[in-house]
Amino acid sequence: MFAFAPCAQSVVPVAGAPDVLFPVHRIYCVGRNYAEHDLEMGGSGRGTPCFFAKPADAVVPIDCRKPAQVDYPGMTSNLQHEVELVIAIGKGGRDIAVENARSHVYGWAVGVDLTRRDLQAAAKEQRRPWTTAKGFDQSAPISWIKRVDQAPDADALDLWLYVNNEERQKGNTRSMIWSIDEVIAEISRYWELRPGDLIFTGSPAGVAAINRGDVVRAGCSGVGTIEFTLL
Ligand code: MN
Repeated sequence: MFAFAPCAQSVVPVAGAPDVLFPVHRIYCVGRNYAEHDLEMGGSGRGTPCFFAKPADAVVPIDCRKPAQVDYPGMTSNLQHEVELVIAIGKGGRDIAVENARSHVYGWAVGVDLTRRDLQAAAKEQRRPWTTAKGFDQSAPISWIKRVDQAPDADALDLWLYVNNEERQKGNTRSMIWSIDEVIAEISRYWELRPGDLIFTGSPAGVAAINRGDVVRAGCSGVGTIEFTLL
């Protein structure tokens, strides 16, 4: 028996089959996976991507037909958006070969890696961890998951993000430094991937601050769209 009732399993509905729920195991994220975003963050544009993580219950699954609400987090005065393709893992493994990586994918989603940019900047300066900057509650709004057999080739998908109908981010997954398959292979060298893992693959350029009351619309062609208001 449990000492108390365990918290509910985090889930993301599957598009086209909303009764089917994808149970979230872990959320991995890739940092600096687009050269132009690396440049805007003060890098050389030729840096090596890095990994960080968010707790599984940071997901906020959003039905594309119903605008949602996300709480503006405390402890920041510079919350920023990062629109990203998200890989949903359906088959686990360790030391996965790049050539086999795609067979581990269940589907795709579009997500927004919400970031307390002020805390991230301070953490970088003080050589401290990013957890408070990246891994907070509701920091991972995400669309329903589009199964691979119902989605286009994910290696060349448009990503976009609008704030109050103004375009902020526009990119394409073909500009990733580490490809989808390389991201899966590389992560599986550090951790055993499990079914239910989500991987945020990094943001194109154009990240900027968002404030209470702002309406964020984000999408990935052929995968999904989401809309949420910051409360
Ligand atoms: Mn990111």
